Amino acid sequence: MKCSSGELMRCEHATALVKGERVRAVVGDRVEVELPDGHDKGVISAILPRRTAFVRRDPAERTASQVLAANFDLVIVAEPIVQLNRSRLERELVLAHETGADVAVVLTKADLMSAAEVEAVRREVSDLAGQMVPVLVVSIEDAASVERVRALVGDGRVAILIGKSGVGKSSLVNVLAGADVQDVGDVREFDGKGRHTTVDRVMVELPGGGCVVDMPGVRGLGMWDADTGLGLAFPDVEELAASCRFRDCSHVDEPGCAVLAAVASGELAAARLESYRTLSSEISAVRARRDEARHMRGEKASDRKKRRK
Ligand code: GDP
Ligand code: ZN
Repeated sequence: MKCSSGELMRCEHATALVKGERVRAVVGDRVEVELPDGHDKGVISAILPRRTAFVRRDPAERTASQVLAANFDLVIVAEPIVQLNRSRLERELVLAHETGADVAVVLTKADLMSAAEVEAVRREVSDLAGQMVPVLVVSIEDAASVERVRALVGDGRVAILIGKSGVGKSSLVNVLAGADVQDVGDVREFDGKGRHTTVDRVMVELPGGGCVVDMPGVRGLGMWDADTGLGLAFPDVEELAASCRFRDCSHVDEPGCAVLAAVASGELAAARLESYRTLSSEISAVRARRDEARHMRGEKASDRKKRRK
């Protein structure tokens, strides 16, 4: 089953007005395109509501968000099995869960470690990510491991691949696609993007069904609204927090804090709580700055409420 539909058409701009705001179409967006008289390129007249979206803080602007992809079914977080960066993985998992799509982790370059070392890292990551998140170990030299990724994507589903540069995303996509897809022409126009776009995110159809979007160059992963994602990425902390005396416990110094008690007893790693707190305060800080910026622009609180999901 094909996972992308629609015709190929060049468009003049990659943006459209949605409820009075200029919105940039991203990979995966469903758009309506008009071809005005005398134009040889289409004009995006509407961007349809997004089923899922990967959102981060705009690296160039403190009080704005940036959508990187839309309408996918699965986020695959790729991390190298050697020198795994736990705090980066935790950050990636929060934003991945916040999208509303399924989440999985792929640990790459498994051939660089012994089987016993690989299994130790896999288990640790599995504990960190929680039961709901499949953790696969992959090497592009091991065809069976790549097939497990194909099965995970599934027929007719769209997966986005995130992870820092050099982790092996393009190599994995190439093996999955059975070709060097870097040379595949204007695939991006599936989603109605115009020629002027500099964003280089390509939706690749896999033989046997499914699509994968490699998102290169996703360096900064600043938090945006991600309370739901934070809860889903830290099921261990959330579960403990349910037993804190105060519902709005910040697990810093409150009496009756079950999270602090778990750290004291060794049930929860102190580093784990530290990550949770860091991401949680980043989410709060970004929200405060954004609300402040809206206030400065003279927006009414009622407008703000309407825009929230
Ligand atoms: P990307 O930036 O995430 O797209 O990473 P690339 O796919 O460009 O890979 C970065 C480097 O890692 C390249 O030199 C690849 O050959 C290498 N690489 C990718 N996958 C594997 C793997 O499974 N095992 C090993 N040993 N190297 C890999
Ligand atoms: Zn607490």
